[in-house]
Amino acid sequence: MERISIFDIYKIGVGPSSSHTLGPWKAALDFTKKLAHKSFDTIDIHLFGSLSKTGVGHGTDIAVQLGLAGYNPVTIPTEEIGFYVQQIDSLKTLSVNETSIKFDPSENIIFHGVSLPEHPNTLIFKAYAYEALVLETTYYSVGGGFIEEKGMESVDHRERILPYPIDLGQDLLDYTTANQVSISEIVHQNELQFQSEDEIVERIEQIYNTMVECVYKGCNSEGVLPGGLNVKRRAKKICQSLLKDESYSNAKEWMEAIRRQPNDFNTINKWISCFALAVNEENASLGRVVTSPTNGAAGVIPAVLLYYYFFCDYQGKEDLQKFMYTSGEIGCIFKKGATISAAVGGCQAEIGVSSAMAAGGLTELLGGTPQQVLMAAEIAMEHHLGLTCDPIGGLVQIPCIERNTMGAMKAITASNLALTGNPHDAIVGFDLVVKTMWDTAQDMNGKYKETAEGGLAFNLPVAFPSC
Ligand code: SF4
Repeated sequence: MERISIFDIYKIGVGPSSSHTLGPWKAALDFTKKLAHKSFDTIDIHLFGSLSKTGVGHGTDIAVQLGLAGYNPVTIPTEEIGFYVQQIDSLKTLSVNETSIKFDPSENIIFHGVSLPEHPNTLIFKAYAYEALVLETTYYSVGGGFIEEKGMESVDHRERILPYPIDLGQDLLDYTTANQVSISEIVHQNELQFQSEDEIVERIEQIYNTMVECVYKGCNSEGVLPGGLNVKRRAKKICQSLLKDESYSNAKEWMEAIRRQPNDFNTINKWISCFALAVNEENASLGRVVTSPTNGAAGVIPAVLLYYYFFCDYQGKEDLQKFMYTSGEIGCIFKKGATISAAVGGCQAEIGVSSAMAAGGLTELLGGTPQQVLMAAEIAMEHHLGLTCDPIGGLVQIPCIERNTMGAMKAITASNLALTGNPHDAIVGFDLVVKTMWDTAQDMNGKYKETAEGGLAFNLPVAFPSC
């Protein structure tokens, strides 16, 4: 199996979708590298399957243009995205590798509406010079911002010999038992094969800061989300109702104000929902989020992490690291043993996986044994099995935004059940639920896999141009 890092699961990107925005963006960037030293005067991008059916709502067309133009999803000023795209559209030109080419988004981005047999999220880039094909490359966006190139094993694949190779939950239990250490420590040792200790600490801090900034921004923004569904932002209203007369002028003061709030069950419950809504409202607005494991499910982890930060026994940065190691590895196991792509497995692969990741990470922080950590992850996934992906209008808004609040609450409930339970009494093990999720993904009717052709999307159809 491929060896992936927790930083392949936790990636900083731009909303609204990891498979439909971040993946195509990375594919476009990769294609520009292949075009280096080649002459070309235009590029066509062909979108198939889910990318063509929900691509407009998910910003796939925007992502491929920005990728071809060489913008980095980690550093692009998100507030400028609208301007960049408008410029390309009005000038009908695109600068690729510092070459100005003819490019009309309405003609050069082709939504095919059908799936290719290889993968539900396929995109093909074709570069031409004087109408002759110069280069053609096919990519698959396989979920969580991962891409694969046709004929190649994996664009993101890296060979690594790890001290503790992990394919299953049972591997984690074997290593932790043999070494008498926590899951996070085992994962930490593996991560040191990918980067230095200093780099790990810095990256975790960067990810955490991005999550907090995203929640803060979402809690302080109002209005209607883009896309035409007329969905109103709610996080700010909830935040204001909870903070009442508190005033603040930056994220630090805002966090201090939250710390002064009551911590009864109902208040905490509202905060968790508020954090999750804030992230996914930002995600729906093409804001900067951390895929965890995907953009659509990006609110679950920050909501649970901030629940721990504000209302449990947060001890400092080491807690963040433990949480990231443990939750990230659970995401890796799902990626390798099942899927984290809704186009392959429905929403169980997004919200279900994020909830299992959060449940496991939280359980370790709350003092759970490795067995209890995996029991929590198993419980969280067990109650997402079969969850379909049916976003109305192909937008990552309904049911996606609220669904993150549910994923966060299920993660906390699963953690509590595991911490008060005996893993030896559990009938269903973690590895069995990973397998079951994968089996369910393969059995699931295709219209429930991010096509906007089933469920809520079917019963509340919304017409979008060129979708
Ligand atoms: S329904 Fe779930 S899987 Fe589908 S786009 Fe929304 S959050 Fe992602």
